[in-house]
Formats: sequence, C-alpha cells, structure tokens
Amino acid sequence: MTHSDPNCIFCKIVEGEIPADIVYRDEHVLAFRDINPVAPEHFLIIPLRHIASLNELDSSDTVVAGRILQAAPVVARKAGISGSGYRLVFNTGPDSLQSVFHIHGHLTGGERMGWPPFPGKAVGHG
Ligand code: AMP
Repeated sequence: MTHSDPNCIFCKIVEGEIPADIVYRDEHVLAFRDINPVAPEHFLIIPLRHIASLNELDSSDTVVAGRILQAAPVVARKAGISGSGYRLVFNTGPDSLQSVFHIHGHLTGGERMGWPPFPGKAVGHG
C-alpha cells in the first residue's frame, strides 16, 4: 500500500533511510519528534504513503486521514500532555509556509499557547 517518493525526506524516514525519533507507528501512520521544535513537545504525524498535502486527499484516503487524527491523542498521552492540552496543525500551501510536501500534522504542547496563532494577532487566554 505504501507509495513512496524517493525525493521526499519524510518518505525516507518512513523507509528508515534517515533517522528520526519515532514515537508511534501503525500500518497507516508514523509519528516522530520534529527536528526543530517550536514547543516543549513537538511531534509530526504523517501518513506512511506519500501524499503531498491536504489538497491531495481524496475519498480513498478516508482511513489514513482518520488514523492521523486518532494517532494524535496516542502521541499526546505518551508525551504526557493529553490532559494539559495540545494543538494539531496542518500547514498547507505557500501562505501557511508548508516546507515539506508530505502531509504532516504538527502536534505541539507542553506550554500555554496563544490564540489566534497568527503574527501580530496573538491575544493569549491567560
Ligand atoms: P512545515 O513547514 O509545516 O512543512 O513543517 C515541516 C517540519 O518538518 C518543520 O517543523 C521541520 O523542523 C520538520 N523537519 C524537517 N526535516 C525533519 C527531519 N529530518 N526530522 C524531523 N523533522 C523534520
């Protein structure tokens, strides 16, 4: 079932060609620590199969899309932040600054966050 792109860094992590700090894996998804964390806890949850962005999801991806969401609380529990809270963000396209074109949910937590998460608009909820 695994469709891999030889030029994709996250496909290389899936294939074990480059190392990652893997915290969860099942038959559809993989989760590992972000190499450049922006929060005390920062993981990426990705489909094993190469899908460039949310824009490429279609009806055949229903199971994998669900599994990505289901992996989030599993990863959060392992990190000890399921109770304190976390955020799941999917950057998609140029305005979002997506830099790796293999779907990944950023799961971040371990500190109080602000909302909304946009430059110059952060208000925080205290
Ligand atoms: P985005 O800008 O949403 O596409 O996020 C890509 C994320 O991938 C960034 O947060 C990077 O720090 C992260 N990243 C890139 N290469 C690696 C890697 N080899 N291992 C772990 N995280 C990575």
